[in-house]
Amino acid sequence: MSMRVAVVTGAARGIGLAVAQRLASVGMKVVMADLRDAAQAASMVNRDLCAGVDADVSDEASVQQLVAGVVARYGRLDVLVNNAGISPKHGGRKARVEDTALPEWQSVLDINLTGTFLMCRAALPHMRAAGWGRIVNLSSQAGRSRSAVTGAHYAASKAGILGFSRILAEEVGGDGITVNCVAPGRIATAMAAAVPETVNQEIAARIPLARLGTAAEVADAVSFLVSEQAAYLTGVTLDVNGGYFMA
Ligand code: NAD
Repeated sequence: MSMRVAVVTGAARGIGLAVAQRLASVGMKVVMADLRDAAQAASMVNRDLCAGVDADVSDEASVQQLVAGVVARYGRLDVLVNNAGISPKHGGRKARVEDTALPEWQSVLDINLTGTFLMCRAALPHMRAAGWGRIVNLSSQAGRSRSAVTGAHYAASKAGILGFSRILAEEVGGDGITVNCVAPGRIATAMAAAVPETVNQEIAARIPLARLGTAAEVADAVSFLVSEQAAYLTGVTLDVNGGYFMA
């Protein structure tokens, strides 16, 4: 079998970076896409297996250019991990609904949800042609249950990803393409560090496994879902949250 080619969005840091590292470690070619610093991140992970591309997942033309570039360079696109996301805070706190400006609402939906749609739509013809594909979309515990630290726009976008993924899984299953979600709980990255440390300590105290998760632990779940071993899993959501929310 030829080498699998993966695209990971938001891969310059945090969970996306860990996913890229993990997929390269199992021998995939990984295209690491991010708004900026993608090439630098890729050279740090693995110069031979990783390439960085600056791209904005909320911009249709940028997404088309990204996917066309991957297919032109490698001739295939097997794995897509939609990880790019934002969770705006103001002075370490979310904006309540009544205080949320429309541009902020729109940008969260554009990047988190529409970005996922645009990336899937661009990648699917290539997976369909190959008769094989793996898509993993990053949702969140905030899209599965309640959250006191994230804004309503973020929760709406992450819940939207769950519904979007179920419909897509149904549409493309017959073409050998699986579509699954990973819903992280509180993971120690820059995104989680945007709130005061005491807030994360309070959350950790309520997590059965008694700590925040790591980006590498989320990457392990993603790595499983894109593997051959996950061939009969589609439309599922893996909660990687230390037991904080149990479905
Ligand atoms: P992060 O902020 O550390 O990294 C996100 C990356 O996405 C950044 O490198 C950023 O530049 C990139 N990005 C933002 N907008 C982009 C765009 N328009 N186009 C391309 N790239 C863009 O976040 P993280 O903690 O690593 O989170 C990764 C994913 O996991 C996100 O979807 C997030 O919502 C989700 N998640 C994180 C946590 C957590 O606690 N950290 C919990 C649940 C879900």
